[in-house]
Amino acid sequence: MTQAAPRFDFDNTYAAQLEGFYTPWQADEAPAPKLMQFNEALAVELGLDPMALASEAGLAVLAGNAVPEGATPLAQAYAGHQFGGFSPQLGDGRALMLGEVIDTNGRRRDIQLKGSGRTPFSRGGDGKAAVGPVLREYLIGEAMYALGIPTTRALAAVSTGEPVMRETMLPGAILTRVAASHIRVGTFQFFASRGENDKVRQLADYAIARHYPDAARAANPYLALLEAVSEAQASLIAKWMSVGFIHGVMNTDNMTISGETIDYGPCAFMDRYAADTVFSSIDQTARYAYANQPAIAQWNLARLAETLITLVDADTDKAIEILTDSVNAFPALYGAKWLEAMRPKLGLAAAEDGDFDLITGLLSLMEAQGRDFTLTFRHLAAAQGGDVTAFQAQVGGEGSAWLGAWRERLEREDATAEVRAAAMLAVNPHYIPRNQKVEEALNAAVYQDDLSPFKALLAVLSDPFTAQDVDDSYAQPAPLDAAPYRTFCGT
Ligand code: AMP
Ligand code: MG
Repeated sequence: MTQAAPRFDFDNTYAAQLEGFYTPWQADEAPAPKLMQFNEALAVELGLDPMALASEAGLAVLAGNAVPEGATPLAQAYAGHQFGGFSPQLGDGRALMLGEVIDTNGRRRDIQLKGSGRTPFSRGGDGKAAVGPVLREYLIGEAMYALGIPTTRALAAVSTGEPVMRETMLPGAILTRVAASHIRVGTFQFFASRGENDKVRQLADYAIARHYPDAARAANPYLALLEAVSEAQASLIAKWMSVGFIHGVMNTDNMTISGETIDYGPCAFMDRYAADTVFSSIDQTARYAYANQPAIAQWNLARLAETLITLVDADTDKAIEILTDSVNAFPALYGAKWLEAMRPKLGLAAAEDGDFDLITGLLSLMEAQGRDFTLTFRHLAAAQGGDVTAFQAQVGGEGSAWLGAWRERLEREDATAEVRAAAMLAVNPHYIPRNQKVEEALNAAVYQDDLSPFKALLAVLSDPFTAQDVDDSYAQPAPLDAAPYRTFCGT
């Protein structure tokens, strides 16, 4: 049976409007591609034909072996501060943007292959990705999406049939990634560090038109751009913090202008609450620890602000002053977003001055007793529903005073206990990607060629707020005597 090639209604503005910001390129041939996972719902959302995409002809596209009609495959240029040190040239060293489509909601989305071979930006790298990190990005990204957190998404994961050399030989793979755009703080830095201020302006105008059209009408559009990105990032990081997500490598090249989470490498979710939690084996100074994430976001925004100096005012001193004020406003912005994300977790609909102390009081209890972040909130919801035993078992005797203060606070809320309990269960996940479950799923895929644990975990994580009829191990943290969890950079 001959199959129709998948059709994409590409509308490639980055390629058309930003010549000089990328290199047209092509993917390597994948010798024996196999579809490991396909995101049918996302394909439909993108206005694509899932049948055609999951067919042999579709697989050829997802493996980089066929260029769909209308695609303009390209590798984007960007720079970035990595662990505080500036690299003037990073760029897509193993990714290829196929083009942009307008999804069924009218939103412009990039479609990119990650792991499709060397590009002019590869430096020493092989341009490839391994099955483990590809499935990890798929799984965590989709879990974030289901948790309601802005993120790039996975359309497909394909194994290439080609081994890649890491510490050992591993099976190779390609992820098809979908993003609101792939413009990063580091994209601005690439041109600013070369003194190409016209290009910075061109990029800023493009980013405004694509992501923050209101900024174009502001008195100072480039300041408005910084403010819009700051607001998006404040909101994003607050959401990360509210679920215990640790990105692990918040370099400026891994921070989007759109406000989506991007580049899932050594990321992981915290189980027992500890503000200083670090999972990444390469983050030796704990730069990207859980509690540092808001401050790092601000640091990255300062790097973005620096690229905008010549655009914001002809008088450099004045530009720096205006931009500095904007960056200095981030902690207050973030603080407000954090309260917005945390209050509903405690069943609070209204805002009161004492809420910050009430929330941090609970976190302190968890930290002192090494309690699981996710389960504690879930048990708190159950306490509101009338069953206080699980919460008390979680926080012990010292929890009673806090529980009393919380109940007193709830008396000044309008909702009935029943309504509030349901609302709490709808924002406090029952399932997060538990580290041992993720490892189990990836190990089975990589070493036993068995995708069933991955598929089962993906299914559970796609409905994180509902207790499902599955093994309880999906909801449980690592055993207390487990070795500290370590992640490795997903290259
Ligand atoms: P990451 O740590 O994945 O965010 O990547 C940082 C930079 O290294 C980006 O410019 C990537 O394109 C590049 N890179 C990562 N892994 C590879 C690889 N295997 N081959 C070529 N470039 C890579
Ligand atoms: Mg990156």
